[in-house]
Formats: sequence, C-alpha cells, structure tokens
Amino acid sequence: MRRPLVAGNWKMHGTCASIKQLLNELAEQALPDDVDVAVFPGLIHLQAVGAQVAESHLVVGSQDCAVQLEEGAMTGETSALQLKDIGCSMVLVGHSERRQLQDETDSVICRKFIAAQAAGLTPILCVGESLAEREAGQALVTVQRQIDAVLVELGVEVFNNAVIAYEPIWAIGSGLTATPEQAQEIHAQIRAHVAKYSATVAQDLKILYGGSVKAANAAELFAQVDIDGGLVGGASLNAKEFSAICRAAGN
Ligand code: PEP
Repeated sequence: MRRPLVAGNWKMHGTCASIKQLLNELAEQALPDDVDVAVFPGLIHLQAVGAQVAESHLVVGSQDCAVQLEEGAMTGETSALQLKDIGCSMVLVGHSERRQLQDETDSVICRKFIAAQAAGLTPILCVGESLAEREAGQALVTVQRQIDAVLVELGVEVFNNAVIAYEPIWAIGSGLTATPEQAQEIHAQIRAHVAKYSATVAQDLKILYGGSVKAANAAELFAQVDIDGGLVGGASLNAKEFSAICRAAGN
C-alpha cells in the first residue's frame, strides 16, 4: 500500500511575510493523517519555513540542487548536503521549468538525482511531455527517455528512495489538466516500465501527477489506481485550496 504524497511547489513566489502567513493559514487547516505533505519554498525561504513547521508533520524540500555533492567553487549553486544540513528531506529534480529555462539535460538531472540521494535527500524526478510531443503520439517515448536517463544509468534500486512526478508540460500553470484517464494511462505505463526491471520497486514507487491540480479536480485524479498524490504549483499558494487537495489524497 503506497502512502499518498502531496507536494506544494511554491516556485519563485513569496516574501518572508507572505510565506509566514501562508504557513499560519495552513496550520489552521485540517491536514489528513494518512497523507505525507511536503512544501518546496524558494531557496532563500527554506530555513525560515523549516523553523516554522518544525513542530508539524510538514516536510520541507528544495526545488533544485547542484550536480556536485560537496561544497566548492560553484557560484550561485547549493549542494544537496547543504540542503540536508538546513533540514530539507526532499528535492525536486528535472522540473520542466528548469529543463526549459535552465537548459537542464537528462544527464545533468541524473547527476542531481545522484547528489540528492548521496546527501540523504529523496529526489522527486519530474518528467513530462510537451504538447507537440503529445500531439505527435510521443508522450510515452519522452517520459520513458527521461526516466531511463536515471533508471538505466543507475539501476532500478535507486527508485526505492525516490518519487516520480508525471507533469505534462502543457498542463503546468496553464489551467489545462490531463483528464484522470490521460494521467492514469501514463502513470500505469511508467509503473509497467519500471516493473520490467523490478516488480517490487514498481509496486512501491510513488508516482505523483502534476499540472493544474486544484481542489476541484484532485479527488478524481487521485482516485486513479496509479496516481499516488500530486505535485501542485499555483494551488499550493492558497492554504484552503492546498489543504483541500491534501484531503482529497487521503481515504
Ligand atoms: C508545477 O509547478 O509543478 C505545477 C504542476 O504547477 P501548476 O500546479 O501550477 O500547474
């Protein structure tokens, strides 16, 4: 039985004051006991968020980490060990916005995945196709290539301590959501692909859906057998909306 996870990606949003308020509002909301809830603030807010949620069950993660594990001459970068040191336990790797805006390649993402695990962080590997790839019937090919860049390179066992987030690019921040059937189809194919290497790892692997998840569509998405929760962008900046999404992931 996979325990659901709902992760809020705050992207480059918030000020010290607005984030404090968001967490205060979230603390007033009922969060389910049978769902893991994680928030991913921007780098500069990680420590303050960690301190504020220290007494709660909320998990804190980073939106990115450096390819290099140890500290060193990498101006502007933050290593996975430094993230671990300030209390992070998870990290997003390969978010489509970083693949697109920072030109992150599959091999760079694989190195970040390695660094994350070496530091004791759980990586959430983000994968997903563009609209053009979907329309060309290449959605699964793209997603498999992105997964294989880690799976084939490092071996299936690394997914014992990792999460995959399927996020079709055309659904991110666009208001367009994959239908539950469209999402389930890819999630099932991802699990079947991993199962070719290890049925046990595939069975236990959490696969999140991301792309305009809202309180209004979360329950239907999370009811799909291979969808184990969500990676939520915009809606995670609203405490009522985000907590309703978390509740939709519970039983
Ligand atoms: C995301 O940033 O990972 C995301 C899914 O964003 P949104 O929920 O806003 O589409």
